[in-house]
Amino acid sequence: MTDEKAQTQEFKLDSDCELRFEVESKNEKVTLELKSGLAEVFGTELVKGKKYEFTAGAKVAVFTWQGCTVELVGKTDVSYVAKETPMGLYLNCHAAMERLRETAEKEDTRGPITMVVGPCDVGKSTLCRLLLNYAVRMGRRPIFVDLDVGQGHIAIPGTVGALLVERPSNVVDGFSQQAPLVFHFGHKSPQANVALYNLLVTRLAEVCSDRLQANKKARVSGIVINTCGWVKGDGYKLLTHAAQAFEVDAILILDQERLYNELVRDMPDFVKVVFLPKSGGVVERSQAQRTEARDQGVREYFYGSRTPLYPHSFEVKWSEARLYKIGAPVLPASCMPLGMKAEDNLTKLVAVTPGPNLLHHLLSVSFADSPEDDVVQTNVAGFVCVTNVDVERQAFTVLSPQPRPLPNTVLLLSDIQFMDSH
Ligand code: ATP
Repeated sequence: MTDEKAQTQEFKLDSDCELRFEVESKNEKVTLELKSGLAEVFGTELVKGKKYEFTAGAKVAVFTWQGCTVELVGKTDVSYVAKETPMGLYLNCHAAMERLRETAEKEDTRGPITMVVGPCDVGKSTLCRLLLNYAVRMGRRPIFVDLDVGQGHIAIPGTVGALLVERPSNVVDGFSQQAPLVFHFGHKSPQANVALYNLLVTRLAEVCSDRLQANKKARVSGIVINTCGWVKGDGYKLLTHAAQAFEVDAILILDQERLYNELVRDMPDFVKVVFLPKSGGVVERSQAQRTEARDQGVREYFYGSRTPLYPHSFEVKWSEARLYKIGAPVLPASCMPLGMKAEDNLTKLVAVTPGPNLLHHLLSVSFADSPEDDVVQTNVAGFVCVTNVDVERQAFTVLSPQPRPLPNTVLLLSDIQFMDSH
């Protein structure tokens, strides 16, 4: 293992080996280049001679099936070659999924719906990315569903979403975010509102099922679902609910045998439940790093990553804002109107009075035309962030990727805050 090294490092990798490196220091850049042979980063092939630039927070594995030489320029905090990886097992999963797609193609049925589960920091997102990349490289068009509201990879934290994957992920930035389908949840953990979380998962599953119906290529390719790391108690119930809602064919469990045994016990026979080891390369993240990763996701949404974006800033009068949040406090059953369950309050649209409490909060811009529509189950067009609240002038300022939206827009308040330091 080499630590704190600057300059140029060359690595000759044998077949089935992987180079792992991390960039920790702020403002540091590390360039990766494939000099000879073939290699991939989480399933995306590297182009020989192309320079890939990674910045602080990057934790990368360059894997080769055939052997290769790669070069790193810049200061890495960790860089080493690993000979032991679970990549062969992960490839077997892809091969099994591909066989199901071939059958689906012949019989005009649906391809595999696969859910990846496991505790925090076991490489769930990475395995999803790998399976999706291998599928598109075979000419498939799978749907990627991300149910991880804390560290998800579609849109920003506090949402669940789906994306039709049409090309391999970018080596540095991940999957292209064109036209994702996104629903507002508003919290960084499903624990904050389990009833709402389940409702959105059911809704997302319905929409994905409709999309598969409408698009043969996607139907044959199937769905890969990423989930949260909350796997105990109520967290486990969320997983079984998601499995049911999406009618999954297979569940891949990373690292935890207990979870594997529970799922073997509870899933019907037609669901394949598969245990997979985690990669020794997956890096554990501290709470601070998780918060930073969330902030980074929001920052990239507004300001872009490699290609800079230039967001707009404008004022919204309190009187013009149609501001809501989802979920009111649960009342005792005796206080509920006849025919309503106490739980129903958790998925109710509640008007929010603008005020200083909005400062730094993210707001989702709903596609719903009016609060009379089913706003809770309508997807969102994008997000704005409240950067200033002026009590005297009864207005707040927002940061927005779009110029001033229509005055009647329905905005949904998120618990999640973002400090705009630009
Ligand atoms: P979460 O608990 O947040 O959902 P997760 O289980 O989805 O996490 P990942 O996000 O896939 O885990 O992986 C955690 C980190 O480890 C990521 O930064 C990823 O790039 C890195 N990583 C994954 N696999 C490897 C590897 N083989 N070598 C080096 N780094 C890796």
